[in-house]
Amino acid sequence: MDRLAAACHDLVESGVCEADCCGPIPMPREFVKEREDLIAADYTDTLPEHEEFMFPVTDDLRCIFLDGVRLECLVHAERPDVCRKFGDESHAQMCCPYLRSDGTPRTKTERKQAMREASAGQKKLNSYLASQRDTKMAN
Ligand code: SF4
Ligand code: SF4
Repeated sequence: MDRLAAACHDLVESGVCEADCCGPIPMPREFVKEREDLIAADYTDTLPEHEEFMFPVTDDLRCIFLDGVRLECLVHAERPDVCRKFGDESHAQMCCPYLRSDGTPRTKTERKQAMREASAGQKKLNSYLASQRDTKMAN
């Protein structure tokens, strides 16, 4: 386990982070189909017209493979690339609000800035996904 993964594990174990980064993500249809028995919550596919990918959105806007009680990824060994790379700071949406890419903790100021940037993007995405989910459910 690298330093970032180890520090992430400690923060989730201690309850500081509630797997905050495990929101809805697009996934290959085949990947989800092959792991149907691991899906942790009901969801709406907000990308039904796409042949290769689906974008499953749950009521609480969490990933379908997140065990919401234990805060564990149920497909950890095979999780998508975006999950493996999360925290590498390659993009504002790929920054962990608690940890730098080398696994060291962010200062309070850095954390506030990372949270502000992540939450601005996440809010836009969540609002879009919620509207897509509601539209699909109404049809
Ligand atoms: S990478 Fe950061 S936001 Fe994601 S679970 Fe770990 S500590 Fe939480
Ligand atoms: S696949 Fe696993 S690591 Fe990725 S968002 Fe879902 S629960 Fe989190």
